[in-house]
Amino acid sequence: MFDAKGGAASPSTAELRIPAPRLSDAEILRYITSGDPDEAEKLFDAARRVREVHYSNDVYFRGLIEFTNYCKNDCYYCGIRRSNSNVERYRLSLDEIIACCRMGDLLGYKTFVLQGGEDPAFSGEKIVEIVSTIRRQFPDHAITLSIGEKSRDSYEAFFRAGANRYLLRHETANEEHYRKLHPETMSLRERKKCLYDLKETGYQVGAGFMVGTPFQTPENLLEDLRFIEELGPHMVGIGPFIPQADTPFGNYPQGSLELTLRMVALTRLLLPRALIPATTALGTISSEGRERGLMAGANVVMPNLSPKAVRKLYALYDNKICTGDEAAECRLCMEGRIRNFGFAPNMARGDYAG
Ligand code: SAM
Repeated sequence: MFDAKGGAASPSTAELRIPAPRLSDAEILRYITSGDPDEAEKLFDAARRVREVHYSNDVYFRGLIEFTNYCKNDCYYCGIRRSNSNVERYRLSLDEIIACCRMGDLLGYKTFVLQGGEDPAFSGEKIVEIVSTIRRQFPDHAITLSIGEKSRDSYEAFFRAGANRYLLRHETANEEHYRKLHPETMSLRERKKCLYDLKETGYQVGAGFMVGTPFQTPENLLEDLRFIEELGPHMVGIGPFIPQADTPFGNYPQGSLELTLRMVALTRLLLPRALIPATTALGTISSEGRERGLMAGANVVMPNLSPKAVRKLYALYDNKICTGDEAAECRLCMEGRIRNFGFAPNMARGDYAG
């Protein structure tokens, strides 16, 4: 018998016991394929208790700045892929990015997440300039980058400039499946190498995957979890695949809410200290999707800080929520939703509890 921290149980921690510290492949596959709601509830309950041990009821806020929707890549699932000529493209200037940070700071955020397509106009030097400007003006804030695959030298330069965290979902850990989601110019090997480079550079690293992408099998999801265990990221982003009409996958069905929640819960059990967002994609497929994500073990939300004028243009998938709100509205709305479910909004930096 083990306690929720994965160590040997003592009587004082008996109430924190979870089903197993090391789930077997068969157990994981059963959770992935089972449609039994009672079993799912038990899984969510166990994940919640593990989360409580490390992070209490706190939900950390990250301010998301989507600063470019240009992308040189052509991922078959993504609405801002290069070949989608229906996208109206935009880039924020350094001043506009800083204005988003200022607004975020006023609203109490201590983490800025800069996300964008792989936009060649934002060279390594430009990113260094942006990161160091934010670092100078906000010395105590965490700066998270999510700008795709770069060279190790670039990752090191961004880190030296003051970036602390990096989000790079691996998308799928299975080679064959990766090939079905991406053109030949991209490779899973390179994606994984980037994740290890980032970790070695000293970043708090976020990996992750979509649930319900075309051709995904239960075994692929098991492989995603095993890869995450092996990599040991500090953050894990998990969201349902949602079709975007102008992509090659525009007619495929969206990922299931229930299965996404089970993947969140399993991730919490396997990586007890991970920072796991209740993603916008979860909130898009179900009105209380993000809250249910928190109930399944997630502990982060990422309200939008991007200027209202460009929100709709960062359309990775159709019907994305919160594209019409001001930053302050997003902040307040999320806070209310979180409190309604008994969680405590936490505006601290919320670094990995290592
Ligand atoms: N370019 C950076 C990168 O590759 O990591 C960051 C931006 S990328 C658009 C952010 C994430 O959006 C991807 O990692 C992917 O998982 C998610 N995404 C893209 N298209 C999606 C879709 N149709 N449904 C759900 N999530 C999607």
